[in-house]
Amino acid sequence: MAAASATAPAGAAPAAAAPTALTAPPAAPPAPRTQRTRRTQPGPAPGLFKPGAAGVGDPYFPKAGNGGFDVAHYDIALAYAPAERRIQGTTRITATATQDLSRFDLDFLGNKVRSVTVDNVRATFSRDGQELVVTPRAGLRKGARFTVAVTYAGTPPELRDPVLGQTGWITTEDGAITLSQPFGSASWFPVNDHPADKATFSYAIKVPNGLDVVANGEPDGTSTGGRETTFRWHSDRQMATYLALVAIGRFEVTDGRSPGGVRVITAVDPAVTPDGEWLQRTTGEVTDWEAGIFGPFPFGSSGGVVDDAPVGYALETQNRPTYPGGADTKLIVHELAHQWFGDSVSLKSWRDIWLNEGFATYAEWLWSEQHGGRSAARQFAEAYKEPADSPAWRQRTGDPGHDALFEFFPTYSRGAMLLHMLRTTVGDEKFFKILRAWPAEHAQGNATTADFRALAARISGQKLDRLFETWLYTPGKPDLK
Ligand SMILES: [Zn+2]
Repeated sequence: MAAASATAPAGAAPAAAAPTALTAPPAAPPAPRTQRTRRTQPGPAPGLFKPGAAGVGDPYFPKAGNGGFDVAHYDIALAYAPAERRIQGTTRITATATQDLSRFDLDFLGNKVRSVTVDNVRATFSRDGQELVVTPRAGLRKGARFTVAVTYAGTPPELRDPVLGQTGWITTEDGAITLSQPFGSASWFPVNDHPADKATFSYAIKVPNGLDVVANGEPDGTSTGGRETTFRWHSDRQMATYLALVAIGRFEVTDGRSPGGVRVITAVDPAVTPDGEWLQRTTGEVTDWEAGIFGPFPFGSSGGVVDDAPVGYALETQNRPTYPGGADTKLIVHELAHQWFGDSVSLKSWRDIWLNEGFATYAEWLWSEQHGGRSAARQFAEAYKEPADSPAWRQRTGDPGHDALFEFFPTYSRGAMLLHMLRTTVGDEKFFKILRAWPAEHAQGNATTADFRALAARISGQKLDRLFETWLYTPGKPDLK
């Protein structure tokens, strides 16, 4: 993610943190007892089936995601009525139980749930804050593959992040777009909403004739019946849930190739920018340049979407980042770098957000250095000029806190400065080897700051603990000597 403006104030204070649906709701009431039937025999004694946890244990978002199962696939079928701003649909989730489950939670906000089935058998459900609590007719054995289908309708709730503003399902002039970092997907589909549980996705989105739909992955064609058209897309690569993209509107869509041969699907809202050709060409050039440095493009297609969402930021939605009007090359470099750093290699914990933003920011520095602009060293020096008594130095890049996740200086600038310090410490050859090895070794997976430190130490053969401790976890302006 990145702010659309080229420079955010270094010491920007977080906006007042208004309580939102994202902060921890009160503790859940006792669960209804599992309904036992003959269907579960033979099996463990009834008491051995336990409820899945209400969160995956992220320190910043305790209720995000859920315990007890692992999602393999989301199949999302939605119909959108722009005039009423309503969605209705069914999301089918294929998952595997990771414990003997009496019940489990999904994350889901607002909307009205009409029915829930587990393996096509009606299940009971209740709502508690962001948790949709599902109790299947029979307990699920550890290791069992199951399908939960949730049918729902409503106007997706508006969500706000303390720094970013609007997130989740966002209504636009002619449709809607989803920008769900860090926790917005739950506003439009029931989800195990944490990057630690990645999955593949398919979409069938029905809209009034005349509107287009662009999503992650690749298109599977359309079908028209009466006044509505259904657009199908699928992503067969692992994806973190916050990267799920559905963009509905009037788009000029281009399905082309980069000079290096990567498929590039771009879409622009002509009411926002006349420059669909520029987006297609620049996306192709940047995709190829980054592949030359970071390794092969990690997905089946690249791309981008320019839409009229009333937000001031771009987001690295998988395959095709989303941009506000006025996006420049630097913003495209940043969001496409996330395809390697954040999308293919995803966070295990939101605390490690610098692994996404520090790398994407350093990609901007490298682009400038290799295209006749300021060198990375010069950009480091400029960022380092921030006065020692500035509050910007007080935050810890490796543990910024829930409300400061996307603050520019600690997460973006200082993250990139750390990478530049690593480069000057280990030398260019080893540094660029590390930059390539990271997305290669964790492709389509999840990783942590500790994993990155171990990799950097292994490839460089150097002890780097002091460097990482200073730049990630020690408040204050680091001494360069
Ligand atoms: Zn970013």
